[in-house]
Amino acid sequence: MRVRNHRIDDIYHGTSSNLSSGTITPRFIVNHYTAGWNGAGARNWLMGRAGGTGNKGSSAHLVIDLDGTAWQIAPFNRKAWHAGPSKYGSVKGLNSHSIGIEYVNPGFLKSAGGGAWVDANGSRKTEAQLEAHGGYMLARHSIVGSGTYAWPIYPEAQLETGRRITQALIEAYDIQDIITHEEIDTRGWKTDPGPAFPQDAFKEMLGETDEEDGAAPLIYEVSASRLNLRGGPSAGADRVDPPGALVDGTRVQLLRRSGKWGFVSVISSPGNADPGVKGWVHMNYVDRVF
Ligand SMILES: [Zn+2]
Repeated sequence: MRVRNHRIDDIYHGTSSNLSSGTITPRFIVNHYTAGWNGAGARNWLMGRAGGTGNKGSSAHLVIDLDGTAWQIAPFNRKAWHAGPSKYGSVKGLNSHSIGIEYVNPGFLKSAGGGAWVDANGSRKTEAQLEAHGGYMLARHSIVGSGTYAWPIYPEAQLETGRRITQALIEAYDIQDIITHEEIDTRGWKTDPGPAFPQDAFKEMLGETDEEDGAAPLIYEVSASRLNLRGGPSAGADRVDPPGALVDGTRVQLLRRSGKWGFVSVISSPGNADPGVKGWVHMNYVDRVF
């Protein structure tokens, strides 16, 4: 998957009626659940009038269904209404700075006794229905109450699409963090995407690759005659000296990415760069080798 002109290739595109005018520069990805079981229903709701519904108050950029189907309902440079009153660090009003991804998931269910559960909309599910849906985990959550609640599992097909889209967004934008609606909600109401969502694994997509996890290292080769190795992800950052620049044919491992810049570690070089030297390079001048 790739982002072109603020849209992901090869998925459904529509445009929600519930977007602010003007453009944004995405710096964060906010993960949500839809608080429902039905993907098309959530998509139509978040598209507002364009989806044939009466919703005038909320939207998002993407909805990812249980089977991995993804619908983009707003270009990534448009301001959607998914974060509500929100704050992350010193950044307020996350709608103006983020891409909102809605994963189809009902969130918590409370025990109704006799092995039955009730979701936040009052819909009753039997244990067998939850198992058929893919199972659930039990977890406490102080915002919901003092009990233990059932949180349906996010299917692997859905998470796989989420990972591919998140990776494409990391490559296209200078994403500084991947966060949850719960952690930015200033009213303290929100519980999404909840404890069943593998938030840490998504957050780690921004961090250093961990070879112990079995992830293949990302190896690149310098394709410019001299590529500056810098101390930060910008053309204004000081060069790391020695070596100052990497010569054509130098092989590096990509450890972290920030927009068009990559933090790399030298593996081998026909020039004077020692193995293990680290710094930032512009990714336009390196090619993936394996
Ligand atoms: Zn949310």
